[in-house]
Amino acid sequence: MTNYLNKLLNKNQTPQNLPIPGTAMRPNSAGGYSFAVDDWQRLHRFLILGSEGGTYYISERALTVENANAVLACIQRDDERVVREIVAISEAGRAPKNDPAIFALALVASHGGTEARRAAMAALPQVCRTGTHLFQFATYAQSMRGWGRGLRRGVAGWYHARDARGLVYQLVKYRQRDGWTHADTLRLAHPKPSAETQGMIFRWVTHREDAAWARDITPPEDAALAFIWAFERAQAAQDVETIVKLIERYDLPREALPTQWLNEAAVWDALLVKMPLTAMIRNLGVMAKVGLLRAHSAAELRVVKRLTDSEALRKARVHPIAMLSALRVYAQGRGVRGDGTWTPTSRVIDALDEGFYRAFQNVEPSGQRVMLALDVSGSMAAGVVAGVPGLTPRDASAAMALVTARTESNYSMSAFQGQMVEINISARMRLDDVMKVISGLPFGATDCAQPMLYALERKLAVDTFVIYTDSETWFGSIHPVQALRQYREQMGIAARLVVVAMTSNGFSIADPQDAGMLDVVGFDTATPQMITDFARGQL
Ligand code: CA
Repeated sequence: MTNYLNKLLNKNQTPQNLPIPGTAMRPNSAGGYSFAVDDWQRLHRFLILGSEGGTYYISERALTVENANAVLACIQRDDERVVREIVAISEAGRAPKNDPAIFALALVASHGGTEARRAAMAALPQVCRTGTHLFQFATYAQSMRGWGRGLRRGVAGWYHARDARGLVYQLVKYRQRDGWTHADTLRLAHPKPSAETQGMIFRWVTHREDAAWARDITPPEDAALAFIWAFERAQAAQDVETIVKLIERYDLPREALPTQWLNEAAVWDALLVKMPLTAMIRNLGVMAKVGLLRAHSAAELRVVKRLTDSEALRKARVHPIAMLSALRVYAQGRGVRGDGTWTPTSRVIDALDEGFYRAFQNVEPSGQRVMLALDVSGSMAAGVVAGVPGLTPRDASAAMALVTARTESNYSMSAFQGQMVEINISARMRLDDVMKVISGLPFGATDCAQPMLYALERKLAVDTFVIYTDSETWFGSIHPVQALRQYREQMGIAARLVVVAMTSNGFSIADPQDAGMLDVVGFDTATPQMITDFARGQL
């Protein structure tokens, strides 16, 4: 009996299937106990990681509902702050995908107070930067609240926020999505044209057949109208030369061309000159397949230069996940849907590898002794990160850890399940090779205390433990925070713990009451810098 009580009430060592007495620990999905993250942290996780694919324990639908409830709780507490958080993360390109931001914005637009709803609508052009984003927002908003005056005004504002040339680019490039076309949204929102040109553009969208000027033999003088004219020309073109000329003279994007021309190397060659960086990254395989992107070619040189141009990457909001995803597909030499094969070139692969690191915000080393520990347990191998096919939290965590490993000089990298797992990876290895090592590991139980216990047992001096995990710990006989406290006491080092969340669930192994522990979100482009700032004691 005494032994039993001792075990239950010992605050220094509690098995993971019981809460630490006197704390607010909650049962996690794996049968263990973790801390709950607050709703703002949950909002942050959702905005960065989304809920696509769910987790090992939680279905996509259930995870989305949980996250929506967390967003609603934040809206009730401070709806205008929710808008600010959404805009900040979306505008800085910190998230791999913009969908969660659009979803959350639609929630504020439907459930916020008057001021917050107005702020959400005003933020529409900043958050919904493409026609596709606008259609996604319209889908969400329509199902959450219907088309009231506020929504009409908000959508009208989206069309007014761009100059004529910027607007026609959106209209031509993103013509439809989720059953929406611009004709639908324009009819519903009914924006008043602010100039004659704008009126002609709107009219071309809603009554295309009436716009005879768009099919005239000679192009209109106005640049915006001429762009529409060029688009119409491309639809009727009979030969490659005409298509190439239209691209060169009017900067038509790939989406403006009938698909039959997208098998031509000459067409891609013309497109590549002004191709947006994100489109270029997505189309490397296609350009290789049509024979344009080959070793020693001019196209290869152009692609390599742009992939590693930090300034351009930042301006185009290229997310590291986009690089990682492109690297995985391009390097294997065949499309995801089995659509064709190509020979990848080493220089492009290396450029994607390098571009991955450059797409993160600048990171300065902390100079501290950092132990990077990957949770490679079974649950981490289920679900996908940011909707990228086949990219599990386990594989993704290795890529994320490499960013810090490449920055810090005094680091070690390790992996754990129910016990430590031998892995042989270093910061000098290529991303896809590292992920191959990780995805080849067998599955096992989860004990997030392992890194601290391991370091303590071997008397390894560590200033900061960085653990990449879903925090679904359950296996160990001592909680991670208790292991960290033991480590601090016995080693005499005020060691810190950073928990890098790899799923958008509501758990953390970090104690929110302990200032030496920090929760961050995996694949936020700001995370590597937050880790080093915290390691240096600056957060
Ligand atoms: Ca697990």
